[in-house]
Amino acid sequence: MTCEHEWQDSGGCSENPGVFDNGNGGMVYVKRCTICGMMRKRGKDYTGWRSGNTWGPYYYLPDGSSCGRDGLLVWSGRAKA
Ligand SMILES: [Zn+2]
Repeated sequence: MTCEHEWQDSGGCSENPGVFDNGNGGMVYVKRCTICGMMRKRGKDYTGWRSGNTWGPYYYLPDGSSCGRDGLLVWSGRAKA
């Protein structure tokens, strides 16, 4: 099973859908695939000096388990642990 992924902003407020402030000088962007339900999270630093706030994207299966940084490739049902 493969999925082309149709990413749609997930959560957040109406003005900034899919965008969260992590309270530590960084933003978190969340999108969810409307087809398979996979979630993609990406963090971005906005202070310019907290490099640890820039990360991802990471992909998560619908049940919340992580499936690494290349969800386009690893999505094959539950094959990848
Ligand atoms: Zn998908």
